[in-house]
Parts: sequence; structure tokens; C-alpha cells
Amino acid sequence: MPETNSDAGWRFDNSYARLPEPLFAAATPATVRAPRLVVLNRRLAEDLGLNPGQLAESPAIFAGNELPPGAEPLAQAYAGHQFGHFTTLGDGRAILLGEQLSPAGGRFDIQLKGAGRTRYSRGGDGRAALGPMLREHIISEAMHALGVPTTRSLAVALSGEVVMRTTPLPGAVLTRVATSHIRVGTFQYARGLGDEGVLRALLEHAIARHDPDLADLAEPALAFFEAVVARQAALVARWMLVGFVHGVMNTDNMAVSGETIDYGPCAFLDAYDPATVFSSIDQQGRYAYANQPGIAHWNLARLAESLLPLVPGEGEAVLDKVREVLGTFPERFERELLSGGRAKLGLVGEEPGDAELFAGLLAAMRTARADFTRTFAALTALAEAAAAKPRASGEKPAGPADGASADEADPFATGPLAEWLPAWRERLARQPAGPAAAAAGMRRVNPVVIPRNHRVEEALDAAEGGDLAPFERLLAVLRQPFEETAANVPYRAGPPADFGPYTTFCGT
Ligand code: AMP
Ligand code: MG
Repeated sequence: MPETNSDAGWRFDNSYARLPEPLFAAATPATVRAPRLVVLNRRLAEDLGLNPGQLAESPAIFAGNELPPGAEPLAQAYAGHQFGHFTTLGDGRAILLGEQLSPAGGRFDIQLKGAGRTRYSRGGDGRAALGPMLREHIISEAMHALGVPTTRSLAVALSGEVVMRTTPLPGAVLTRVATSHIRVGTFQYARGLGDEGVLRALLEHAIARHDPDLADLAEPALAFFEAVVARQAALVARWMLVGFVHGVMNTDNMAVSGETIDYGPCAFLDAYDPATVFSSIDQQGRYAYANQPGIAHWNLARLAESLLPLVPGEGEAVLDKVREVLGTFPERFERELLSGGRAKLGLVGEEPGDAELFAGLLAAMRTARADFTRTFAALTALAEAAAAKPRASGEKPAGPADGASADEADPFATGPLAEWLPAWRERLARQPAGPAAAAAGMRRVNPVVIPRNHRVEEALDAAEGGDLAPFERLLAVLRQPFEETAANVPYRAGPPADFGPYTTFCGT
């Protein structure tokens, strides 16, 4: 086992680097002119067994100018269906430094994104700009605080160099932390090599990292596939339940770990519209909010195809086994969605009408173009009011529990949401658990703050101009998304009327 290599706490054991060579290529981070740390995630550093004080003095490590002890830098090879078209890819601007062993027994990839060209860069410069890297930092950390499985961001460092996009931009490097960077596309690539030994080595590696319980099965490929199907069903349901649109669900951007990966053109819904697309390049709406479960299912079919040679049996029998597992995705997703939907509505226990009740609210929200996050926050406030003040039947419902909840007009006051409300009240009234339990449960799952598009843009604009204060304030608020605090009052509201339709661009 590796030793603790320095007082910064780096403790690498690089299992991916021991896989067969075609799966990766050695890579060296580019040396940049003037490394400067913009943000360091101290809590995450501590969880990884790293010393934040030491790290704060090591901008060279986070810009790629110095390697942490024990690093074996490499770029991973992968393929992917991008908007449905198969391509061979690989880390074109990301370099895996190694795997950090955490004090709690975890193993985490430490990867520099924007660290220069690799064998897989094709025409790209291997670099990243500050804005998109800060965007990934904010949104991935917000997702984590919302309880959605995700890659993390340990740091963002300026390179002191300019990257050329449509305009010259400040260059930056993000340090991404993930339980692995193995993608559906990694399996597609391994399958494409036509070497069953390499494919099997990748499968064993992925199982060791994500499903060690399956390692002892005689034929684990199908069980691994099932585990990935289950994780993706749970993940995409979590996205839907917080109004997240990933935006670029290519198979190379879907991790077998079940963590959200690749924060490019992603964004959160303001007004609820299932057809929402933010990405400038997604003109057909392939990756629209409502299409996400279907796309996940499609991507999992590509994983299934890649694993076929490792599933024991012959011909149709193998296909049938794999199809059966793949076919469980829609019902798994619906189950996850309904269970999360019940929690959002404060429902304890199960009634046959619950799915309809949840769908009814979403339909009403769509008609009213209600704000996704504020609707559930307002419903939580109604539940809390009901818990605080039990009403005699026929009495007028109480308003929000305190002034802080009433950021804007109560969306349930009139219109389609008001019409939906009695069915929810009746359902809650039948619950033996009582209104206080419902309200407390809702408070734990319905955020009052999300990374609102207008707030993210405002923070990034200021940061690009050298003022990090809005970025830091937003980040602090997003770390505690479920509580109404004085600090988050200005961050709860939807976009200003003049914000207009929001468009995102791939984070290149
Ligand atoms: P993405 O859209 O971020 O998922 O990237 C798709 C592919 O393009 C991946 O293989 C990336 O590594 C690669 N890529 C993205 N930006 C760059 C860049 N600036 N230089 C080289 N490769 C890149
Ligand atoms: Mg990608």
C-alpha cells in the first residue's frame, strides 16, 4: 500500500494506470505561466485526507505545473455517441493524476480539467476558460448539497494564460474529483478494440471500484449492468426532482458510477416546462428536460451492447437476458420518481392515487408556467403553516409560516395550482403521521435555493472581471439549500422579468 507521501496528505494508488495500455495514454499537464488558486474546496479536501492549509499554498499543483507525489498522469481513452452519432474520443483536455485514498476508505480520481493537450485532443487546445470551470464548480457543488450524486470540484486555478474562444478568455484548470471517470463510452471503446481481455479487465476494474460485492460472482457482467441501470434510474429521477437539465447526455458523459458528470451546458428550470432545452447546440431538443429518462435508457442500451461478449450464453439467449435487465429501466425510473415525488409532497406511506396526484401538480405547474423550485418551496411553507396551526374544517387555509417564505406571491393562491390544492390537503389529512411529519419531510427535500441561471451568470461575469465576491456568496448560499436563511433571501426568487430565455454553451 502507498504511504502518506507528504504533509499535504496525498496518498495515491493508481489502479487505472495498471489497466491494459490501450485504455489510456500517458500525459503530462502543460506548464502554465502564472498559476493562481481562485477557489479551494476546503471541506472536500479534508474529506479526502488532504490538508487545506498546505493545498492553499500549492497553486502549482492545481494548475498542472507540479505533480502531487505518487501521481501517474494519464488521459483516458473512450468513445461515445454524441447526439446519436458514434465517435472515438478520449480525454482531450483532462488529465487523471491518480487515485487518492481517503481516510474513510474511499478511492477518488483526482483529475485536472483544462491541463493541456493529450493524445486524444484532436483539433482542440486542451485548455479551459475560467467561466466554464467556475460554472462547473458552482453547479457540481450545488448538486452535492442537494443530495444528487455528482463528481465534485476540489479547486479552480487560473493559468495566467489566455485561451482563445470566440473572444480571448482567462485560462483556468479545474480539479475534478470522482469515484471514477469510467463512462458508458469507456466500455464502448473497450468493446470496439475487439480484445475481450481488455474489455474484461475494464469490467473487473469497474466492479472493484463500484460494485465490489459482485466481484465474486462467477459471471458478473449482467449483475454489473443491472447495478448501473439501477444507479442511472435513481440519478435521472433525482435530476427530474430538482429540475436539472444535463444538456449533453452523450454516452461519453454518462458515468457507470451513477454520478452526474460533465457540467457543460446544464442548467436548472425556472418555469416548469418539460420541453425545456438550454443548450445552444441541442436544436432538436434531444436532451430536453422530459427526454432525460428516455435518453438514459438509450445510453444504457449502448452499455448493454458493449458488455455482450462478457455475458455467458449463446446468441438470442444472451440478448434476452440483457434485454430483460435493460427493460427494467422505465419501471425503476418511475419508482424512483414516484418515491421522490411523494417526499416532495410530504406523503407518508403509499396510496394508489399518489402518482396521479404528483402528475396533477406538474400538469398544473406547466399550465401556470409556475417556477419549479418556488412551487415546492411554497407547498412546504403551506404544510408548515398547517402543522403549526391545526384548522377546523371550512376555515380558510393559513398563509406561509413567516414573512421570509413569501418571497413573491403565493403560487397556490389562484389558478391551476389552487385548483389542485384540495386533493393534496385531503391526501395529507388521511395520513396518520400528521402534518408536522409531512412538513418536516418536505423541508428536507424541497430546496429554497438552486443555482438560478441569472445568479450564476451574474457571479461568473463578476469573476471574469476579477471580482470573486458574488461567486463566493452564491457558493456559500448553495451549500445550504434547504433552509430559509437571511443570507439566501435574495437568491430564492426566480429570474427578473427581463432575463429572457436562457441559452448555454458547451464548456469548451
Ligand atoms: P464534452 O463536450 O466536454 O463532453 O467534450 C467532448 C470531447 O471533446 C471530450 O473528448 C473532450 O475531452 C474533448 N474536448 C472538449 N474541449 C476540448 C478542448 N478544448 N481541447 C481538446 N479536447 C477537448
Ligand atoms: Mg465529456
